Amino acid sequence: MPDVVPAPSALEAANAPAVRVVGVSKRVRDGESRRAVLSDVSFEVARGELVVLRGPSGSGKSTLLAIVGGMLSPTSGEVYLDGEATSRLREAHRADVRRKKVGFVFQDLQLLDAMTAIDNVLLPRVPEGIRREDEARALTLLTRFGVERSAHTPVRSLSGGERQRVALARALLFDPPLVVMDEPTAHLDDARTHALATELSAIVGEGRAVLVASHDARIVGLPGARVVTLEDGRVVGGPSPEAEARA
Ligand code: ADP
Ligand code: MG
Repeated sequence: MPDVVPAPSALEAANAPAVRVVGVSKRVRDGESRRAVLSDVSFEVARGELVVLRGPSGSGKSTLLAIVGGMLSPTSGEVYLDGEATSRLREAHRADVRRKKVGFVFQDLQLLDAMTAIDNVLLPRVPEGIRREDEARALTLLTRFGVERSAHTPVRSLSGGERQRVALARALLFDPPLVVMDEPTAHLDDARTHALATELSAIVGEGRAVLVASHDARIVGLPGARVVTLEDGRVVGGPSPEAEARA
């Protein structure tokens, strides 16, 4: 018997970027007419790479992240997660792929305030039922982000920075190849932003792809970050001023 040779699709998946966005457009209803929010957007994020999606308010960053995370469908174009075209998946499977492949930190975090930190971290596992090893992993993640002492505290009594770290721990529960954060520094002071930058570097250093939407110069200028700039729903070209300044 010859050794089992991985199917080409499996090989492709191993070499594929964590996320590849190809020609994505999104049009929305605007009164009687339809308006383009995203127009022919293409980019990818490899494992071990940090991409900052920059652009003024209203340029389409959150819409694009929602499409990457599978919460929204593009009008046209395709999103590949680990080489897999997400539009071709049936709805139930798509939800599962998105849950396992994309750790999403929402701009408003979307924590359940009355629940404890650890229960918030475990929420993505609820559909299958929480196992003992899930609880151990959740606690390890809370410890990693320095909020283990709040594990059994309702998140409503945590600070903004602590709540964000709980949300980040939750995003990592399934060990996803891609982590997405929307405007993570909107309410953080310089010290907390610096700490977040260190945490992001560590997450990238583990071989994950990280995609952060931000117009914060403290994030856009992070060493090693590749900047993709959106303007009116289009990727505008050329290296960023920050990258050129570093070169
Ligand atoms: P950003 O995150 O860069 O601020 P958004 O993605 O939130 O940008 O929004 C981009 C534009 O699309 C905004 O003008 C917003 O009002 C509009 N938009 C987003 N989603 C919808 C929708 N479902 N219906 C109508 N307009 C929308
Ligand atoms: Mg936004």
